[in-house]
Formats: sequence, structure tokens, C-alpha cells
Amino acid sequence: MHSATDQHSNITRSEQLQTQPLDVLVIGGGIVGAGVARDAAMRGLRTGLVEQHDFASGTSSRSSRLLHGGMRYLAQGRVGLVWEASKEKTVLRRIAPHLAEPLEFIFPTRQANGWPRWKLGLGVKLYDLLCGVGKGGGSGSMGVAETLRRVPGLNGEQLTGAVRYHDALTNDSRLVLDTINSAVQHGAVACNYVKLLDATREGDRWRCELEDRRNPALLVVQARSVVNATGPWSDKLPNSETSLRLTKGVHLVIDRARLPMDDAVVLAEGSRILFVIPWGERVILGTTDTDYRGQLDNPPCDPEDVSYILQVVNDAFPAAKLTPQDLVSTWSGLRPLVADKNGNPSDISRRHKIAMSHAGWWDVTGGKLTTYRLMGEETVDAIVRFLGAKAAPCRTATTPLVERGPRGELGDATSCSGILPPPVSAAAVSRYCRLEAARHLDDVMIRRSSWRHYYRNHLELAGNVSRWMASELGWTDAETELELKRYRGLTAHSPIVGTTAPAPDVQLR
Ligand SMILES: Cc1cc2nc3c(=O)[nH]c(=O)nc-3n(C[C@H](O)[C@H](O)[C@H](O)COP(=O)(O)OP(=O)(O)OC[C@H]3O[C@@H](n4cnc5c(N)ncnc54)[C@H](O)[C@@H]3O)c2cc1C
Repeated sequence: MHSATDQHSNITRSEQLQTQPLDVLVIGGGIVGAGVARDAAMRGLRTGLVEQHDFASGTSSRSSRLLHGGMRYLAQGRVGLVWEASKEKTVLRRIAPHLAEPLEFIFPTRQANGWPRWKLGLGVKLYDLLCGVGKGGGSGSMGVAETLRRVPGLNGEQLTGAVRYHDALTNDSRLVLDTINSAVQHGAVACNYVKLLDATREGDRWRCELEDRRNPALLVVQARSVVNATGPWSDKLPNSETSLRLTKGVHLVIDRARLPMDDAVVLAEGSRILFVIPWGERVILGTTDTDYRGQLDNPPCDPEDVSYILQVVNDAFPAAKLTPQDLVSTWSGLRPLVADKNGNPSDISRRHKIAMSHAGWWDVTGGKLTTYRLMGEETVDAIVRFLGAKAAPCRTATTPLVERGPRGELGDATSCSGILPPPVSAAAVSRYCRLEAARHLDDVMIRRSSWRHYYRNHLELAGNVSRWMASELGWTDAETELELKRYRGLTAHSPIVGTTAPAPDVQLR
């Protein structure tokens, strides 16, 4: 049985998918699926979305959390890609200011490391032209003394100075959840823990077999079009014509006191770059980029991933002497790169691809968090053309993700959705259960609140959160214990060993 709270939820019950044939059924509740569903619903199409686990549980809660044009792509001369993402960055600042915080990046330059200051200096000026000059001012270059002042503890060896530019910080899983909430407010039916098992073309419709995994049941849904937005899973879906190559990217979280940065710092490592990103009282370090062939649900963060990142950061900040004991948290995500027939990432690997592989079946792959809205718009444009449907024009670039109050204020909806975690409280947990379909302890601790990644004492917090969830969702003691066991299992991957410099424990309210 669905819990009583479902009647209050923004996110809808799986039975509602069956009430009438859908115009669009979106498979996958990551950022791409969320963006397609919101756009389709806002244009008046009958829209459903199903996610096999929790919303945002795939790559879309495991990114670097940046809204960026991509300085790296500029270095590769891919100006079109940067231009596209830059425009979308501006759109997101407009429609979701609570999830787009301007951030200055300092990119230190060194002798003979392949990233000369003059070249990067030109690059950031071009970046300004493409991205526009935001609130933080334009980009620029700085000498050695200023670089060392702005980036305390930076290794001064062979330093030639630095360039600075601007991008923005977001919260990936909150962007997914707020987009899905908005889709539902515009009439979509969105269900987590519902998996597509099979889909066959019957006449002018797709007959889709779905498994409701919370209340074990098989559902059959008719849809005039289906969108495969399953990221790293997209070559596994029936009817998919996608070919992928997956690479793994790991992030580490440490205390900000260990690397007291005001700005984000870019570290060059051969042809790759890694980021040091301030995040409230913490700092995010990452990422790696290694080929991956393992299981998709919860890719591991291996000790060698940790060593690699810590080595790059310790080389740049020798006095920090970071060790695995400094880690507050880690996460690991999979890049679904579009591959050619031989499995090599193709030219368009970092761009997105929208292909109608069969009549009414779209495979949507690649892209990035920053460009999700555009991917949604282009996909729904194609669906509207195919269906010959009368649909309203796309409004996703101008309609705020979270509706504002009468005086333009963002209000209650953003009290539990932002770049930093909200205070740990029963009220926030209640909201996540009632309005955002949180069903498991990890739904709240990891994706809705980020408390798992922010607080070293997350296991203790999870004990309290599980009791609050139990009272919201009617769990028995045995169910509560099972949830805690599941949570401990999911978070046990981490190679964190002990603690030397504990992050301040959070006070419960
Ligand atoms: C390490 C890393 C760092 C990144 N950093 C950035 C960044 O800073 N900025 C940026 O713009 N982009 C970044 N990206 C890229 C961005 O995160 C991804 O492009 C994006 O999250 C992919 O979203 P998606 O919806 O395609 O896939 P996902 O988020 O993986 O969603 C696919 C969903 O489909 C579901 N699913 C699969 N099979 C089924 C089924 N049969 N039925 C129902 N549901 C199913 C899965 O459970 C999953 O939740 C990064 C990526 C990585 C890996």
C-alpha cells in the first residue's frame, strides 16, 4: 500500500500513470528525464516519468555540482559547446537563483606544464565574451604575489601567476528534485521506484511494462512516445540504439579548515584539470576520469581514486598533508559518453544526442547538468513534431523552477532546497516525505538534504532522521532497523578510515 502521505505529495502515485494513454513517457529520473518531463508538461502534453530507484540516484547526484561553460572544452577549441552551455548557465541563474551561486575560479599557472598563462589569459577573455560578465566581474590574470595571497598554502614552485574566471555552483540532486516538482505542478505524473521492464510498439502506441518496486505490482502503460533518458543505463533499455562508453569520476569532501579557500581553485594535472571547490564549511575535491565496466547502481570509490586526488591536491598544497583520515565523505559517478561503433568516445561525446531510433522512441544521451534544459526543449520539440500535437511554445527558459510569492520572494519551497544543506530538523524531513516522495532513509540523507556528504557524524544523524521518517511514513521498529541497515550498507563503500580532525558535529533541532 502507498502510505497515507501520498495524498499530500507533489510526486504522484504509480496508478495515475494508467488512467489514460500518455503523450510522453519518460524513462529515468535524472536531470535529463526531469528536464524533458517539465518541458513536456508545461506544453500541455500528458506526461509520465518513471525512475527505477530514487530521483537523481544515478549520475545526477554524483557530479562536480558546477554550472559551467567548460574551460576545458575551450582549451580543446570547442567554442560551440562552450557557447551553448554558457547561455544555459545564464538561464539557470534566472530560473533557479537558489541553485546557481556565482563562484570565482583561480587557475594557477606554472612553467612548462602545458597550460601557459598567456594562453589561458586569452582563453578566459574569450570565456567572458561567450559567458558574459556576471556579478563577480570579468576574468583576468594575476602575478605570483597576488596568486599566493589569494590561494593560501599554494606551492610556489615554478609558479608564473594565475588566471581567474567565473562559473557557478549548484546542487545537482536538488536541481533534479525541483525540476520534477515543477513538472508535477504542471500536470506530469512522476514516480520513483518504478522500473521500465519492456516496451513494444502496438499500432501507434508503445505498450510499456513497468514494475512498481515499492508495492510490488506490474503496471501496463500506453504512451504515444517514449524517451529513454537513462544516462549510464541507456544502452541496456529495450529498443535502445545507444552505444556508450562509461568513465568514472570520484569526488572527495574535506573540512574547509584543512584548505581554507575563498575561491575555487583549478589544478592542472597533465592534460586534465581537477577542482578544489568551497562548499560552506567543506571543500569538494575532484575529479578522476577512468574507464569503467562494473555495476552501475553504486559505483565504488576505490582507494586508488582517493590516493590520486589527494596526491594532486597535496602537490599543490604541500603543507596540507591531506590523508584519507581527512575525508568527510566521497561520491562516485559515471559519465555516459556517447561512443562510436568501436566503443570509442565520439566527437560528440561531450555534446548531447537526441535520436528517434524507432517511431516514437527517443534515445537522449550525453550532455551535462548545465545543458539539461536545452536537451529537454530540443527533445520535446522533436516529439511535438512527430505527434503532430498542438502544443504551447517552450517556456522553461523563463518560468522560475520554484514559483515565487506575491512579492517575488522564493519562500518556503527553497528553505529545504539550496546549495548548502538545510539545518537538520524534523520539519525538513517531514517536507521531504510529504512533498518530495522520500521513501528510504538514503533518499533524505543523500539526495534531498546532502546531510550524508556534509556531516562526519551522518550515521548518528541518520538514527534521528530514521525515527522522524518512521513517524511520517508509519514504519514499524523492524522496518526502521532495516532502513538503517540499508543506509549503513550504502555508505559503507567509503574508503574513509577513522578521523583525525573531526568536522563539528551538527546540533539536532
Ligand atoms: C564525475 C562527474 C562530474 C560531473 N560534473 C558535472 C558538472 O560539474 N557540471 C555539469 O554540467 N555536468 C557534470 N557532469 C555531467 C552530468 O552529471 C551528467 O551529464 C548528468 O547528470 C546525466 O544525467 P542523466 O539524467 O542523463 O543520467 P542519470 O542521472 O544517471 O539518470 C538516469 C536515471 O535513469 C534511471 N533508470 C535506468 N534504467 C531505468 C529503467 N529501466 N526504468 C526506470 N529508470 C531507469 C537510473 O536509475 C537513473 O536515475 C558530471 C558527470 C560526472 C560523472
